Amino acid sequence: MPIYEYCCQDCSARFEKLLPLSRAHEQPPCPECSGGKTRKLLSTIAAVRSSDGSGAPPVSVGGGGGCAGCSGGSCATCGH
Ligand SMILES: [Zn+2]
Repeated sequence: MPIYEYCCQDCSARFEKLLPLSRAHEQPPCPECSGGKTRKLLSTIAAVRSSDGSGAPPVSVGGGGGCAGCSGGSCATCGH
């Protein structure tokens, strides 16, 4: 079961959640502010996806987080 990482767009909290693949599309509420505006981060799950030799290699994995739109530092998308 993969671990997904989320960041809250309301309070910028980051948290991890174990979800089966069948529920991977769900957005768990933020444990800090109970807000529902959480965003899945790609840092963890991106490693699982293997590109089938169709084009570019996967974007760099790791680096400690950041949401889909940011590279760890400042991000307008997740309010960080
Ligand atoms: Zn929050």
